[in-house]
Parts: sequence; C-alpha cells; structure tokens
Amino acid sequence: MSKLCPQCGAPAPENTTKCEYCGAAIANNTTSATAQPAPQPQVVYVRQPQGVNPERANWPVKNKVVAALLAILLGSLGIHKFYLGQSGKGVLYLLFFWTYIPSLLGLIEGITILCSNDENFQIKYKCRIG
Ligand SMILES: [Zn+2]
Repeated sequence: MSKLCPQCGAPAPENTTKCEYCGAAIANNTTSATAQPAPQPQVVYVRQPQGVNPERANWPVKNKVVAALLAILLGSLGIHKFYLGQSGKGVLYLLFFWTYIPSLLGLIEGITILCSNDENFQIKYKCRIG
C-alpha cells in the first residue's frame, strides 16, 4: 500500500511524511485526506407556522368557553352553532329542538369544545381565540 504525493503525484511509502521526489509534506494519516465525507448540503428546514392560511387573519375572534357554555346551556336551540358561524346547522338544531336530540348533541359538543385544543378549535370553526 502506498499513497500519492499531493504535490507531484509520485507514489510514497505509507509511513512517510515527506515526498522523496519533491520534498512536499505528506499527511501520515491517509484516511484524513481521502475518506472525508463530501460536505453535505445543509438542509435548512424553514419552520412554517401551523395551519398557515392567508384568510386566517380575517377570521373572527371567538371564545371557546362562551361557545362551550352556549352549547351546553342553549344547545337545543343551536345557539352555539350560530355563534360559531354554522348557521345552517343552527337552523337544523332549532327545527329539531323538540326532539331533545339537539340538546344532547349540544352537551356533547360543549364538552368536546372545552376539551379540544385551541389550535384545533380555531381551525375547525375558522375563528381566532382572542
Ligand atoms: Zn512529491
């Protein structure tokens, strides 16, 4: 095994530190010169804020606790649906309030809203928590 002089390219013995032809210094550790991994291109991860949405700045400010209380107390009338901007569903709740199903759904939704994380709440109802 021999290495090559970096200066003149002449073969040099493994343990030599100096080229016998041109006198150039030769690194004794061959691996340091040849086995260096090529520099990897640095991958820069640009951290996007979650749920980036250009419209988002225009979303109305809503309060989770208010929404949850409306759902639990006035769920049978769909008031929380109107509050959360889902008027269509609000009307449905209103039409079926006499079946008690909306009040049950409202109770479940109120608890779900209370337990949901702020980010999910904001995305689901297209609102901002003020
Ligand atoms: Zn040389």
